[in-house]
Amino acid sequence: MSKKENAFSLKFDTEWTYAEAPESTSHIAIEKKYDLFIDGKFVKPKSGKYFETINPATEKPLAKVAEANQKDVDAAVNAARKAFPKWSGLPAKERGKYIFRIARLIQEKAREFAVIETMDGGKPIKEARDIDIPLAAAHFFYYAGWADKLQYAFPNAKAEPLGVAGQIIPWNFPLLMAAWKIAPALACGNTVVLKPAETTPLTALKLAELIQESGLPNGVVNIVTGDGKTGALIVEHPEIDKIAFTGSTEVGKIIQRAIAGTNKKATLELGGKAANIIFEDAPIDQAVEGVINGIFFNQGHVCCAGSRLFVQESIQKEVERKLVDRLETLIVGDPLDKNTDVGAINSKQQLETINGYLKIGESEGLRSHQAKNKLPDSGYFCRPTLFFDVAQSSRLAKEEIFGPVLAIQTFRTVDEVIEKANNTPYGLSAGVWTDKGSKAFNLSSQLKAGVIWANTFNKFDPTSPFGGYKESGFGREGGLHGLAAYLKIKA
Ligand code: ADP
Repeated sequence: MSKKENAFSLKFDTEWTYAEAPESTSHIAIEKKYDLFIDGKFVKPKSGKYFETINPATEKPLAKVAEANQKDVDAAVNAARKAFPKWSGLPAKERGKYIFRIARLIQEKAREFAVIETMDGGKPIKEARDIDIPLAAAHFFYYAGWADKLQYAFPNAKAEPLGVAGQIIPWNFPLLMAAWKIAPALACGNTVVLKPAETTPLTALKLAELIQESGLPNGVVNIVTGDGKTGALIVEHPEIDKIAFTGSTEVGKIIQRAIAGTNKKATLELGGKAANIIFEDAPIDQAVEGVINGIFFNQGHVCCAGSRLFVQESIQKEVERKLVDRLETLIVGDPLDKNTDVGAINSKQQLETINGYLKIGESEGLRSHQAKNKLPDSGYFCRPTLFFDVAQSSRLAKEEIFGPVLAIQTFRTVDEVIEKANNTPYGLSAGVWTDKGSKAFNLSSQLKAGVIWANTFNKFDPTSPFGGYKESGFGREGGLHGLAAYLKIKA
């Protein structure tokens, strides 16, 4: 196996295999118990309560994690409030230096982060190693660069930070979502109270250790753990100026109701049901690969997953055959094995949700194909599944499944597919596969979604704004647009 260098210059020694040498994960420091990170220190929760985070691939506990109550959230918000004048008053280039330092520390600890991310969340190690962790570092690098250039980003105006940002993130890309939230907030001079998801808190707590190591002034970033109740305490806290949330549309709506009538700003990145569209003139093999990546990447736990496939009728048989063949080559199993393509479903609850949708497909009598992989005896696993000829009215085509399940539909004309693709309450992303540039441009202007990929899918870059139309939320993260969400612009 040759040595590999990825786009962000992180060097990975691929001779070192996780699965063949289980003892080599023994140097990965997961503590038995994690406290809350408040005002630069790890402190015991005033609630006195801890909950367990488990490895979904083994169902075994990994660590106990503090459950923050009202008093704990108060302490975190107070620390962030106290740190705000000092942090926002620092020369911008000094703020940038701290953010650069965090980026570099993430790179240094990349391997450790990747293993913890995989163990806590279930994603394949090759994805954690090659995508999540390098991209998280890249976000810190990118926004570190903006810290002293805000006057160029917003010419003829003064850009002022909002204050204390309450940030609530989901379990599908734990460290990456923490980076999406923390990096732009700090670059703009805000302070932060972040809550990771209850099933995947460990990389955010590892990040807290590294933030301590970076010397970031106390209270600038506070990390509190807990479930939705802790999240709600952050949302409702009167001393929070902005809520940045990524998660389900259902909770997004609860948050909108909770902050209505307050001065809190919000950005919400919610669910999706992306259309991935293949035209007859597309390079078919490349498209099939993109469709597989679009839905099976991270077990389909991706808000912008290409979960609805639209195939032009003339190529239906060919595409279906190639998808079935490719499905059989996917390796489902131990997330720590570097050859694994599809890892564990994040939680028992999520597996039950996905199985519920598989039953719906069965009860509708849909033609389907499920990978024949033998699944591990323990852990939460789901075979990648294709449903063919799915009706627009089927729940499989309408609802976000958040699992490795693809609903396939066909179309004849461009107008028909645009109408079908837009016939959804969501609007986060879409993909178009065609050889014709004009078709790609036409579709990208007519599809109602925040991100349109042409002849690729699930490509992420810190310079690119990400966010939804309709019930997929509002506000943008990433790129220059991601800064605006953390600033007051004064003319
Ligand atoms: P999912 O349904 O995919 O688990 P959620 O939207 O429930 O996604 O969770 C995303 C994040 O929102 C998690 O960190 C979770 O703890 C948090 N959360 C859940 N309910 C609430 C709530 N009512 N207010 C604030 N945060 C919440």
